[in-house]
Amino acid sequence: MLIVPEALVASLVSPDDAFVAVEATFAAMARGEAYNFPVVREALGEGRQYGFKSGIDRAGGVLGVKAGGYFPGNAAKGLVNHQSTVFLFDPDTGQPTAMVGGGLLTALRTAAASAISIDRLALPDARVLGIVGAGHQAGFQLRAAARVRRFERVIAWNRHPEMLPRLGAVAAELGLPFEAVDLPRMREAEVIITITSSPAASLMAGHVSAGTHLACMGTDPKGKQEVEPALVAGASVFTDEVAQSVSIGEAQHAVGTGLLDASSIVPIGEVLIGRHPGRRSADEITLFDGTGVGLQDLAVASVAVARARERGLGVEV
Ligand code: NAD
Repeated sequence: MLIVPEALVASLVSPDDAFVAVEATFAAMARGEAYNFPVVREALGEGRQYGFKSGIDRAGGVLGVKAGGYFPGNAAKGLVNHQSTVFLFDPDTGQPTAMVGGGLLTALRTAAASAISIDRLALPDARVLGIVGAGHQAGFQLRAAARVRRFERVIAWNRHPEMLPRLGAVAAELGLPFEAVDLPRMREAEVIITITSSPAASLMAGHVSAGTHLACMGTDPKGKQEVEPALVAGASVFTDEVAQSVSIGEAQHAVGTGLLDASSIVPIGEVLIGRHPGRRSADEITLFDGTGVGLQDLAVASVAVARARERGLGVEV
């Protein structure tokens, strides 16, 4: 098997690669060629979370698991709080084929999913990008979104305003004016990305204009929440996987309180393969509930492994 350490991943997988790989995965899921296994997630105490996301893509010849979690004590030790590793297996024999550092891959595949939703569902002439959140993932989200629309400026809100300048620096790198705003000013945005670890809704229905596309990316376990359930219920809701959306995604709250029928949530893969039209009108609010599926991780890890093999990089054991 090939070991591809975290430090090599940046030189092997680009945001473009992640976009293409994740798009192909969502399409394969919609065609029934690929599916995710149930997510395992366990609380280890002292805020530590550990779990597994796994799946198989028969068409792509991919089988594997991402193991990892959140270890809040790491920062004090000079380590990243989120830790993960992807393991790939030969789908025919079950033999391990690769072990790949999963940190950057997670950020790239998450930003790719959000960008795919913006590409397919946002108004084509969207000019203002709103971002709610300014943590580790936010910069990746901004970079990926800027690839699919010609934004003219970025507005952002974060519960901890001292984190916003780092996001502003990414906007500056992209040549985009950046402004920290209050939540009601999110009404100026045609695209809003939410990427926080919030346990309660920050973005309310009154903060969002008609025609906006929302990519809600922060809610991935039970108990987190970024937007008001009424906003979810009033939107056309798309997701990576419906089972995760209603159990661990943003839609868990709207579905749990009976405001939204799970059967109305559309897998984005249906749009990608042309089975669903996506946005139907310029006034519609579209919302992508990006929960993060194991197959996304396996798809980008497979790219990293293929590139490493081509270039003779990594450690063969
Ligand atoms: P981070 O710890 O670097 O940043 C956390 C962000 O949440 C910061 O902006 C912080 O200010 C904000 N926040 C914290 N408490 C809040 C509160 N009570 N109200 C509002 N905002 C609050 O985390 P990150 O790596 O940027 O990840 C952000 C979120 O995205 C996490 O919840 C993570 O689990 C999730 N995530 C989802 C996917 C996916 O595929 N959907 C992938 C990776 C991460």
